[in-house]
Amino acid sequence: MQEITRLVRAGLPEPPEKLRAGAPIHAGPVFASAFAAPGEPSASPYTYTRFNNPTWQELEHVLGTLEGGSVKIFPSGMAAVMAVFAALLRPGDIVVLPADSYYTTRILTREFFAAFGIETRLAPTANNAQAEVLTGAKLLWLETPSNPGMDICDIHLLSEAAHSRGALVAVDNTTPTALGQQPLALGADISVASDTKSLTGHSDLLLGHVAVRDGDLAAKIERWRTLSGSIVGPMEAWLAMRSLATLPLRLEKQCANAQAIAEFLETRKEVRAVYYPGLAAHPAHALARQQMRYFGPVVSFELPSRTIAERFLEASHLLVEASSFGGIVSSAERRARWGHDAVSQGFIRLSAGCEAIEDLLTDLDQALHASASA
Ligand code: PLP
Repeated sequence: MQEITRLVRAGLPEPPEKLRAGAPIHAGPVFASAFAAPGEPSASPYTYTRFNNPTWQELEHVLGTLEGGSVKIFPSGMAAVMAVFAALLRPGDIVVLPADSYYTTRILTREFFAAFGIETRLAPTANNAQAEVLTGAKLLWLETPSNPGMDICDIHLLSEAAHSRGALVAVDNTTPTALGQQPLALGADISVASDTKSLTGHSDLLLGHVAVRDGDLAAKIERWRTLSGSIVGPMEAWLAMRSLATLPLRLEKQCANAQAIAEFLETRKEVRAVYYPGLAAHPAHALARQQMRYFGPVVSFELPSRTIAERFLEASHLLVEASSFGGIVSSAERRARWGHDAVSQGFIRLSAGCEAIEDLLTDLDQALHASASA
């Protein structure tokens, strides 16, 4: 069965098995904190929702088929990141992070794990620079494309380099999603994502997941979840299931729109630089073509100054000024407003939604005119 068919039919019985007469086509969420569980706990499939829940299990099953591994879901992307760090890192360990990763991941190790004697080493995503600082590391953390700079590194090459030094490799795969890039198949040990973004795509929930191939690793991640109580409510898990069916349609449209937007911005004299792995001019375009099936919905670009960028966002009629990406409604923000990324004051991170591309380009055109001429 093709991936798209599996996603659309997620939760339905496997053919040739059929739904029983009168059954709803899609089951609703199972709202239960506790389940009837007489006698030996192991005799009941479910006992208590902090341990397991049927709605999570369905979502984890579908995500597992996408990732090619065993999946555990978490209540946000950061909860998934935290689960990997907490399950693996111990005092004296070294973790190598991208210097240009999603900033909260860097703050988490710097502010929290440093106090437990864990060393963080930083190196840029571009040119596989993290390979230079691997000696003695326990965990290599990659983020490709990096957020918000859209730099790319080679997952296969870096996984081999890390494994030869005894380090595990995790990839933050948020921007492309597991449909757009498959870290486990490329050699990484762990794939992590914020499913708040494109995977669920409707800007209405927070969610994350961790995927691994190794059974011991899966057990450690699950153990952390059970002990810490870092769990997803059934309603969120169900909303995510519902959203997954349209992931291929959404991602295809969003990535086509992102490509057209990036190519359009490249032609504009008001724009100083465009960062999108789908552009032939991107320094790692050839590598991106090799390891990604979709280049993702995020296009970053630079306007000459903070004032011009602010005017651009104000003038746009279709871009919601918001700090997230991957939703069906296009959005954008001036990234330097948060103060954590090494970007210029006029740097904009844009997320292409599912609107008609003609409308988006007309809107971008008028907003660029307005911002340059005010
Ligand atoms: N990883 C990346 C690349 C992100 O962009 C984000 C959020 O923007 C996260 C992780 C954290 O995800 P969440 O906000 O769902 O905790």
